[in-house]
Amino acid sequence: MTGREEILHLLAKYNRYLLGCHLHPDGDAIGSLLALGLALETAGKEVAMVLPGGVPETFRFLEGTEKILPAPSLTPEVIIALDCADRERLLLPEAVFASGAPVVNIDHHLSNSMFGDFNYVFPEAGATGEIVYDLLAGGGFTLDKRIAEAIYTAVATDTGFFRYSNTSSRVLSLVAKLVAGYGISPSRIAEEVYEERSYDSLRLLGEVLSTLRLSADGKIAWMALSQQLMAAYSVPLEETENFVNYTISISGVEVGLFFKEITPGETKVSWRSRITVDVSRLAAHFGGGGHARAAGCTIKTPISQAIEQVLPFLRSYLAGAGLKNTAGDEKKRV
Ligand code: 5GP
Ligand code: MN
Repeated sequence: MTGREEILHLLAKYNRYLLGCHLHPDGDAIGSLLALGLALETAGKEVAMVLPGGVPETFRFLEGTEKILPAPSLTPEVIIALDCADRERLLLPEAVFASGAPVVNIDHHLSNSMFGDFNYVFPEAGATGEIVYDLLAGGGFTLDKRIAEAIYTAVATDTGFFRYSNTSSRVLSLVAKLVAGYGISPSRIAEEVYEERSYDSLRLLGEVLSTLRLSADGKIAWMALSQQLMAAYSVPLEETENFVNYTISISGVEVGLFFKEITPGETKVSWRSRITVDVSRLAAHFGGGGHARAAGCTIKTPISQAIEQVLPFLRSYLAGAGLKNTAGDEKKRV
């Protein structure tokens, strides 16, 4: 892995930076991208922050997101991937790699494939935003309220607003510094992220909750969102991201699953677990990955077939030795 000094050197030496993050960007992806992009810009660099699908509505309250563009506005000297576990999930147009610019991979996923020319990956970090903050502080970058809010949002969303087991003393002292130093408002950010739901998204949640099922032994809970349901409500996909948490909130459940039919022949599976099962390994069996407590994969079949593939696999895994000797220690959920 690349050392901190070398990464800081890369952030200082060049003039043109292109920043991208993972597919279906969440708060950590957007917050990390924005914080690093704004800090580089303040340092006098030319920066392109790129998200081909645009910024999800939930995160548009963050000042600076209007600078995030659907396509690159420059030919980069350095490409930086944030919060992205593998190259396939990096949400950048393929053409940008023709520049031959080195790829710097800054992330905290346990399953990171180390796809960069420079890899700066810390699975013990609560969020990629925590790693970005450490780089900005270490590199003498000037922070401001916009950057502080972006980092706060990154860390808060990835720790489930300081509820998950990746909520370390490091995370808490970092956010204390952001609140004290830049006057940001945790309650406002929580409201923006969680309490700006549409009426339809709550009604869709009701429909999805009614699909909730529990295995006979009470260890697996799952829910499904079919194309048919998606079509009945006009709810952006990112507003369904937290639905999966209801599965793992049931007492006694070890693994919670949420099946989402994102296109007629393609099903996204979100995996969540408590302390005994490393779901990043289970999702990897289906070509996905993530963290021990939260992972995902996409299966190229309609939803009913995806459920038929995943459940027996998971059942036999839980019935076998796997339950005893995976991720023994408590690790992060997101
Ligand atoms: P979510 O279920 O919230 O979409 O994802 C949970 C975690 O798993 C996130 O850290 C996300 O980056 C990762 N993840 C989700 N889907 C995939 C996937 O298809 N491949 C990989 N490698 N990671 C995924
Ligand atoms: Mn993250």
